[in-house]
Amino acid sequence: MQTEKVKVLIIGSGPAGYTAAIYTSRANLGPVLYEGITPGGQLTTTTEIENFPGYPDGVDGNQMMADLRRQAERFGADIRSGAITTADLSSRPFHVIVDGEKEIEAESLIIATGATAKYLGLPSEEKFRGQGVSACATCDGFFYRKKDVAVVGGGDTACEEATYLASLCRKVYMIVRKPCLRASKAMQERVFNTPNIEVLFEHNTAEVLGDESGVTGALLRKNDGSEVKIDIAGFFLAIGHHPNTELFADQLDLDGEGYIKVKGGTSQTNIEGVFAAGDVKDPLYRQAITAAGSGCVAALDCERFLLR
Ligand code: NDP
Repeated sequence: MQTEKVKVLIIGSGPAGYTAAIYTSRANLGPVLYEGITPGGQLTTTTEIENFPGYPDGVDGNQMMADLRRQAERFGADIRSGAITTADLSSRPFHVIVDGEKEIEAESLIIATGATAKYLGLPSEEKFRGQGVSACATCDGFFYRKKDVAVVGGGDTACEEATYLASLCRKVYMIVRKPCLRASKAMQERVFNTPNIEVLFEHNTAEVLGDESGVTGALLRKNDGSEVKIDIAGFFLAIGHHPNTELFADQLDLDGEGYIKVKGGTSQTNIEGVFAAGDVKDPLYRQAITAAGSGCVAALDCERFLLR
């Protein structure tokens, strides 16, 4: 197996990874960045980003990621497709395998692997994944124009997805397990002011129903035990995310939900020379701008570490 030595290895290509690449390449550290299985990260599954400073008219998620990538490449960042399959952080340089076939020895590592959408875990949900079951309304909503769909969850993501789907679909049910929404007041108002969204409070999904054509409905169980069936063509999950830290589980200190723990306001993990940035270490804010900011922090921490 061929081995390559690099000074800075960045894993992940969301706003955190690309920002780390911009800063470390401008510092002449010759970073190598592996994009992972979702090049551009979660923002490539969004349409318009309206809250990133500097874009008064909003910006398309794919466009923003393409711009960030181009900006990093302009300063010499080596951006490659490929996913890290194993990482040995027990001694420095760290040993990392890419796609099971290439070894990298890295003096420092910036982990920006992000987070992934959660599913309910029902066998019927798994069965119809990609055939009506989706965790990304902005990616797949188009297929359900003028049809009835459901969104599971009561947070900001669920509200955002429901209002987006309401602009395409005939009717949107929101399946919410509590008697209230967790989302911000502004998002709640948007939902309640959209006439073709019906919020089903205190409902849980017992089964996703379907046939060879895909999803046809869902069997819901109310908190009082009664059941109700809804006819839908699309079933969208918006119940949160889990951090992509499986590769590092036995090596890095993680919190109860699997997010990487960092020291104070820094990006420093429990292993010297390993830094974390973006959603992979952030259960709280999870915004493009906070991820980009933490990518900058990781790059500066990494630069100082290498200077030492
Ligand atoms: P949240 O964790 O905030 O919400 C998850 C929702 O899913 C909750 O309503 C939760 O219910 C529900 N849920 C979780 N598990 C299940 C389950 N097994 N069955 C049924 N329901 C379930 O996640 P979000 O992705 O919505 O938001 C994450 C963060 O990102 C938040 O801080 C949010 O504010 C932010 N965000 C901000 C946006 C913006 O500002 N434009 C847009 C999107 C997200 P329960 O309440 O009962 O726990």
